[in-house]
Amino acid sequence: MKSDEGGVFSERGSRKIHCSICGKPASAVIEGKAYCYECGSKIVRERLRAQLEELRRRGVVSF
Ligand SMILES: [Zn+2]
Repeated sequence: MKSDEGGVFSERGSRKIHCSICGKPASAVIEGKAYCYECGSKIVRERLRAQLEELRRRGVVSF
């Protein structure tokens, strides 16, 4: 067994995507931008909240 399994995804693959906010390896692409898990879920949560806010403003839901 060779000891460089970790090298499989390095430079040669050249398909490294990093989070556009914090620079960690990205795990999701939202609207064309890459985000890591943490930032991605934050974005999704904020978008959800904005959507709810919009619905509430239109009087679709009330709470
Ligand atoms: Zn991030």
